[in-house]
Amino acid sequence: MAAPAPSKGRLFCAKVMANEPVASEINRIVLEAPELAASLRAGQFVNVAVEGEARQLTRIPLSFTDTDERAGTIELIYALIGPGTRQLSRVGEGSVLSVLGPLGNGWSIPEAAKRALLVSGGTGTVPIFAAALALAKSSTIADVVVGARTKDLLWGLAALKEKVGGEVIVATDDGSAGERGFASEPALTLLSKHPYDLVLVCGPEPLMKVVSARSVELGIDCEVSLERTMACGFGACSTCAVRTVHGMKGACMDGPVFDAKEVVFP
Ligand SMILES: Cc1cc2nc3c(=O)[nH]c(=O)nc-3n(C[C@H](O)[C@H](O)[C@H](O)COP(=O)(O)OP(=O)(O)OC[C@H]3O[C@@H](n4cnc5c(N)ncnc54)[C@H](O)[C@@H]3O)c2cc1C
Repeated sequence: MAAPAPSKGRLFCAKVMANEPVASEINRIVLEAPELAASLRAGQFVNVAVEGEARQLTRIPLSFTDTDERAGTIELIYALIGPGTRQLSRVGEGSVLSVLGPLGNGWSIPEAAKRALLVSGGTGTVPIFAAALALAKSSTIADVVVGARTKDLLWGLAALKEKVGGEVIVATDDGSAGERGFASEPALTLLSKHPYDLVLVCGPEPLMKVVSARSVELGIDCEVSLERTMACGFGACSTCAVRTVHGMKGACMDGPVFDAKEVVFP
């Protein structure tokens, strides 16, 4: 399965239409940038610049959940992790941000897939959400497993349940919502239950490693999105190197989506 060709992106001025909390220390920002909204594919990302001292040299790579071509907007969901994302959370409605995109390759969304399994952990739910919407458009039944540390970090479940044709299963590490434990457990159970022809995973590397290994064993096409720490986002700095069976690649330009068979997980 070949992922789509990656993009180096262009700079856009994006007007902030909303910037609000959706869960504990997790915000949703809606940006108006019609040309960008029309050109993003599920699984690609953008690099957002914030002003001030928080991130003077590098932009913040963020995936998107959804685009609204009629309104010309894109929706990003971001965790408040460090100085850059905290600064982003303080940006008010009506402000204008510099956004570089679309970046990366994005998921392969084969039209012929009948049933897909999507598995996410933490902020990996953002590109998985976009994949779920894209698969819903191509009438693929998708079961989605969403993992989070605790229920306060969950968002978007009602929209997911409304949009996807399959099950939405939640797993929390502490059992405060859904099944107790890691998202890999329900994912492996589903893999043994249904004849999937596509598996997409984004989240912590142990989750991607175990789900992709089982999928490959079963002969199912599987892609993982590797959201490695990266500086430039367009192939100039090599900070996001990924070990693959074909040598070292860059998560920003060769990914972030990789065929699971290619990736050598640590
Ligand atoms: C392609 C891509 C897509 C992403 N999409 C999203 C998204 O949709 N939503 C979201 O919330 N986050 C996403 N991230 C992660 C997000 O970019 C980081 O959380 C953000 O850059 C942190 O910036 P900061 O200045 O707030 O904190 P920093 O000071 O940069 O980082 C704070 C701490 O988090 C660690 N850290 C930063 N980035 C990562 C990372 N990628 N993996 C592991 N540890 C990291 C740092 O090492 C440091 O310890 C994505 C990352 C990539 C590469």
